Amino acid sequence: MSDDSETQTLPTVDVAPASVAVLTSGGDAPGMNAALRAVVRAGINFKARMFAVIDGYQGLVEGKDFIRPMEWNSVGGILQQGGTAIGSARAQAFRTPEGRKQAALNLLERGIDTLVVIGGDGSLTGANVFRSEWSEILQALLQEGRIAEHVLERHAHLKVVGLVGSIDNDMVGTDVTIGADTALHRIVEAVDAIASTAASHHRTFVVEVMGRNCGYLALMSGVATGANWVLIPENPPDVDDWEDAMCQALMAGRGAGRRHSIVIVAEGARDRAGNTITAQHVKEAIESRLGADTRLTILGHVQRGGAPSAFDRYLATIQGYEAARYAVEEPADAPPVLIGLRRNRLTRVPLMECVDRTRSVAGLLDAHRYAEAMELRGGSFTEYWNALHTLLAAKPKEAHTEGRRRRIAILHAGGPAPGMNTAVRAAVRLGIDAGFTMLGVENGFQGLLDGHVRELSWMTVHGWVSRGGAELGVSRKRPEGDELRVLAERIVEHGIDGILMIGGLTGYEIVHKLLMQRQNDARLNVAMVCLPASINNDAPGTEHCVGADTALNSIVSDVDKIKQSAVASHRAFIVEVMGRRCGYLALMSGMATGAERVYLPEEGITLDSLNRDVQRLIEEFGHGKRLGLIIRNEQAETFYTTDFIARLFDKEGGDLFDVRTAILGHVQQGGNPTPYDRNQATRLAGRAIAFFAEHLDETARPVTAVGIEGGRVHFTDMAYFPDLMDMKARRPKKQWWMELQAIMRAISEEPAG
Ligand code: ADP
Repeated sequence: MSDDSETQTLPTVDVAPASVAVLTSGGDAPGMNAALRAVVRAGINFKARMFAVIDGYQGLVEGKDFIRPMEWNSVGGILQQGGTAIGSARAQAFRTPEGRKQAALNLLERGIDTLVVIGGDGSLTGANVFRSEWSEILQALLQEGRIAEHVLERHAHLKVVGLVGSIDNDMVGTDVTIGADTALHRIVEAVDAIASTAASHHRTFVVEVMGRNCGYLALMSGVATGANWVLIPENPPDVDDWEDAMCQALMAGRGAGRRHSIVIVAEGARDRAGNTITAQHVKEAIESRLGADTRLTILGHVQRGGAPSAFDRYLATIQGYEAARYAVEEPADAPPVLIGLRRNRLTRVPLMECVDRTRSVAGLLDAHRYAEAMELRGGSFTEYWNALHTLLAAKPKEAHTEGRRRRIAILHAGGPAPGMNTAVRAAVRLGIDAGFTMLGVENGFQGLLDGHVRELSWMTVHGWVSRGGAELGVSRKRPEGDELRVLAERIVEHGIDGILMIGGLTGYEIVHKLLMQRQNDARLNVAMVCLPASINNDAPGTEHCVGADTALNSIVSDVDKIKQSAVASHRAFIVEVMGRRCGYLALMSGMATGAERVYLPEEGITLDSLNRDVQRLIEEFGHGKRLGLIIRNEQAETFYTTDFIARLFDKEGGDLFDVRTAILGHVQQGGNPTPYDRNQATRLAGRAIAFFAEHLDETARPVTAVGIEGGRVHFTDMAYFPDLMDMKARRPKKQWWMELQAIMRAISEEPAG
């Protein structure tokens, strides 16, 4: 025996793992399961002991089997489910000091002193009350002889991390809450369906959506569906006889040829004097003043239900990961935080400051301090509100009498992307309103070469807000050589002052080429704006391209079905998704569907990695795994094709599992645009038109790309295009989402042992 007495006498370091409990509380929201899954799995990867509390604070008070240890697989198969798998309850008992004392005891019995709470402002307040009383409660428990001294010392603090699950998107301190995007999906689906029946009968529909103190759902669904009037709590109509203003707007719409009208009312809508405006009242006002056939739909709980959208799964996953990181890495006395998303980045913000400011909105509304309430909603809320009103107030105008109307041509380039029509609609209407003549070019630059240019009127774009595809047509044609001269001739022939290119990378390349060609041909001195629309999300100068969210949701819903199909078998799926040389769709869909592995063109695929991946699958299927999911970008690697990987894995998997492939193909480019894509399209088109209005008279007419950076609209001078691009790989040099891979791994790879 060797002498190891020296090591035996060393003081033992306390390396006990952190013990963390997670609970969902208050009103449920789609995406809570994705958050739960991410908290548990990331926590396990950070070497914590993880627990889930059943039925929210009620379970915390009950103890016993309501507080359960969680393993990696305990949270399998829940990502795509709405609601919450661990239950949520309104817990009266937790509102009492006795209840909270019992809850503390239940946690201490299991060595837990960190709580991750997924809920609304009520639930987060509860967590904060609990935390601030914690030492007092522990002292009391010590004096009562219910805990030992060392327990008090060891668990002197309660660490609290909050995630906001709320369909209303009403929390100050985060740009978006878990569940809001899904609720928007539900509303927009319903309003689209209503609009189609309303159009058949020349009807007006009044639709009530949720939001007692927050108009987010009403506002965003109003923009996304092209509603004719929207009423929200934070910004009541500024005239007393608002019914008259609303009816005038509806009549103007009818006058312009609309076949139906939609009014969206938030449940907490009010007038300037603070009186509630009910959807019923809106309906009656329209009926009595316009004599119009008017119907009322109250959407109710439909808005809370259903499978979470791709964005909510992603949001919940990254926030869940960050919550686990805070729970494990920060010191025991770390302040309580809320994990938020600000300007497209994860943030940690002081919990109670956010809750208090959120709650102050109700007070501001009661005090009629509407400007301050709007301020708390943030910049993009106001921007959307203004865009909505510009669109509502925009009218088809008579031709200007003085001077020549400037002419803006709209065209697409590259593949079709859902949301292109939405962008064209907004650009046409806002452009006409700004005094431009708006032209549509059919089939992209090929159409311009062929002279297929026509004027787009106000009503040409009626109904385009929700329509997938590209009504103007697309083409990948790149004008070369003498065609550039022809193009210049067409520009002169049609009197084009500006070009709005709504499309992907191909379009950006052509626009840049035309900019360079200016030195040789002054006729190309027209203002140009590129508006990113591509499912691949590979345009420079923007974090999001219009169309990518729709493609992502399409992939996610297909993969959900594929997973269901394999429920009883031992099967691994290799799903091939689009994206060209950009792995955005692969990584994001991998995160939103719970894939074990994603293959990206940014990383390529090596034989070594294939070997590791198949060994992992063999091991996991050997331990009872029933379903495997791998997502491969279509151009992740030239030689290791989807088919090759499938054969390799199938052969190596032997009897343990079989392998199937699914190449999703062009469905990813189809479908009606999601609310997110519609709203980005409208917002960007609005800014593009404003850019033309401001810069068209400059001698060297500017060429720019409009995009979203850090959640804000941003312009990039197209002269910098080559600097922003990795031209060989044909994707932007900077891709913000590549940072998410660490999160993807922490959620998808179970630690060994
Ligand atoms: P939400 O989290 O959706 O806002 P609630 O306001 O109903 O939902 O809160 C959910 C639960 O949080 C309550 O049932 C209660 O158990 C707990 N809670 C809320 N406020 C407090 C408080 N001030 N003190 C203690 N517990 C609270």
